[in-house]
Amino acid sequence: MLGDDASARTALEASARAILEGAGYERIETPAFEATELFSRGVGESTDIVRKEMFTFTDGAGRSLTLRPEGTAPVCRAYVEHGMHKRRQPVKLWYTSSFFRHERAQAGRYRQFWQVGAEALGSDDPAVDAESIVLLAELLKEVGVRECRLRLSSLGGSESRGEYRERLQAHLRTHEQDLSEEVRSRIDLNPLRAFDSDHEATRRVMQSAPRLLDHLSEDDVEHFAQVRELLASANVAYEVDSTLVRGLDYYTRTVFEFTSAALGAQSGVGGGGRYDGLVARLGGPPTPGVGWAAGVERMLLAGDSRPAGVRSVELFVAFDPEANRRAAFGILAAARSAGLKAQMELGGRSLKGQLGHAKALLARYVAIVEGEETVLRDMEGGAQERLATDTVVHAVLRGLRTL
Ligand code: AMP
Repeated sequence: MLGDDASARTALEASARAILEGAGYERIETPAFEATELFSRGVGESTDIVRKEMFTFTDGAGRSLTLRPEGTAPVCRAYVEHGMHKRRQPVKLWYTSSFFRHERAQAGRYRQFWQVGAEALGSDDPAVDAESIVLLAELLKEVGVRECRLRLSSLGGSESRGEYRERLQAHLRTHEQDLSEEVRSRIDLNPLRAFDSDHEATRRVMQSAPRLLDHLSEDDVEHFAQVRELLASANVAYEVDSTLVRGLDYYTRTVFEFTSAALGAQSGVGGGGRYDGLVARLGGPPTPGVGWAAGVERMLLAGDSRPAGVRSVELFVAFDPEANRRAAFGILAAARSAGLKAQMELGGRSLKGQLGHAKALLARYVAIVEGEETVLRDMEGGAQERLATDTVVHAVLRGLRTL
């Protein structure tokens, strides 16, 4: 991460912080690696992540550890470990962290990548689902993600899911000869993933497959209807997509994904859903939860690359001749103490070189320290004045205030 990319990220993180902390989410940072079991149990043995994407290693004491491939299981682990169920519910947490997946690297898909994520634990109110989705929509809007679409579905609770799974497995077995090798091998383990296949014949089989949305319990139907109503009242546009299943095992009820057509093959910008069984699966009390994660690199790729708009140098301190370096250094320190974004010549350049450098930095003012006196130049209007050196900082502050 360098240069413009770094400032775009900083701006994105600032937007995420403002949006999420404004909605009562508290920052959390979990360790970069955890016991492998957390992910195999939490994310699920049948998922791509656990089956083939984790960076796993053994430490000196023979424990199996894994670089975090996602953030939800660690956040739920922390919720249990820190007794957060005793706090007022829902507990709302957000993060911006790096994650690791052993994937084939390509544009928008990396082995180390960053996500902004948000998790709300302890309430199954559909308003928490809707709030969570609205916050991600707001972030994507703020970042300027282009050609953005929101797909939404419900996977139901474990009961409706269990019955549906059997129906789907029966459908897949009837058409087994047309399925891709991979889908066929997962009929028992994870039949829902067949909806994600891009194998042509499999896709045809899935067009006539029963849909989970048509087999939800009454409670799940009502929950989903309320989420949709709330999204509509917040003016968030969505499409219900009964083929949306998401890759992870822990989802229940609401699932959603934002995609951007500006991204090409890796079109997912961010997504998430409800995971009402996960905390209990990790040894905590039964606790509903809902959340999402959005890829930082993907948001930046799909966002409009607006310049950050923040002037990074308000005062550049130049000096001539060399003997005035000490006085210049004093001005630099005084300027920073006064809250100015200030830099000084550090490269041994001639005066002409220093002025060129200040221009390249887009400095607003340049002070050319000549001893007791200093020439202060306004780089925007071009005006310059000669002042007593110890009044320069004051003059810059006054000049910036009258902008
Ligand atoms: P997931 O946890 O797979 O739903 O991922 C959530 C978001 O993280 C995706 O929508 C992407 O924006 C981003 N993401 C996932 N995997 C990668 C990766 N390997 N490289 C870059 N971004 C990723």
